[in-house]
Amino acid sequence: MQYLVVIALIALIYFVFIKKKPIKNQEVPKKKNEKLQGNDLVQCPSCGVYTEVDEALLSSGKYYCSKECLEK
Ligand SMILES: [Zn+2]
Repeated sequence: MQYLVVIALIALIYFVFIKKKPIKNQEVPKKKNEKLQGNDLVQCPSCGVYTEVDEALLSSGKYYCSKECLEK
């Protein structure tokens, strides 16, 4: 009887991990898709210059064109 309890517990833990993993994997790409992609231009809040997202520095949800602007 004890073996059944152990197996049931392992199965439960297994289910929790399996259920959690796909949810996490789904959340990450969703957030990425919601954000700006590829060569989209973002405006630097410090100097107003438009920079490509790939080259911009992301800090606290804002894109900066350079380190100097980020530190301002
Ligand atoms: Zn700037």
